[in-house]
Amino acid sequence: MCIFCKIIKGEIPSNRVLESDKFLAFHDINPVAPVHILIIPKEHIGSFHETPKELMGEMTPFIQEVAEKLGLDGSGYRLITNIGDDGGQEISHLHFHLVGGGRLSFPPLHEDYKKSI
Ligand code: 5GP
Ligand code: ZN
Repeated sequence: MCIFCKIIKGEIPSNRVLESDKFLAFHDINPVAPVHILIIPKEHIGSFHETPKELMGEMTPFIQEVAEKLGLDGSGYRLITNIGDDGGQEISHLHFHLVGGGRLSFPPLHEDYKKSI
């Protein structure tokens, strides 16, 4: 069973922000911004690329509710989902990183890209 499925079952503790019958939001263990939340479906889905559109349709308002609960809907925030090896995905259970709580930078995302142009 994957780490996030264990978090859903409560076998690994997490700091929960919001929960519904289908989704869970909890604080990332290694935050990269003042607010860094992970939002996952309770169903194990490998990544965004395998996600049915019906699930995204239900996940979208849940994500918006998380942002509102954290008071980020006015100031703004960023959603990130890493997909596969090149995307830097470490845990193969669909998750959105919701980050915010201050003005975010947008760093170079590929080491060699700027050197080649
Ligand atoms: P990925 O690289 O797959 O997009 O992101 C995985 C995220 O899960 C990372 O930001 C990492 O800090 C977080 N993470 C890994 N293990 C745990 C854990 O046991 N608990 C929590 N809350 N976050 C975790
Ligand atoms: Zn899982």
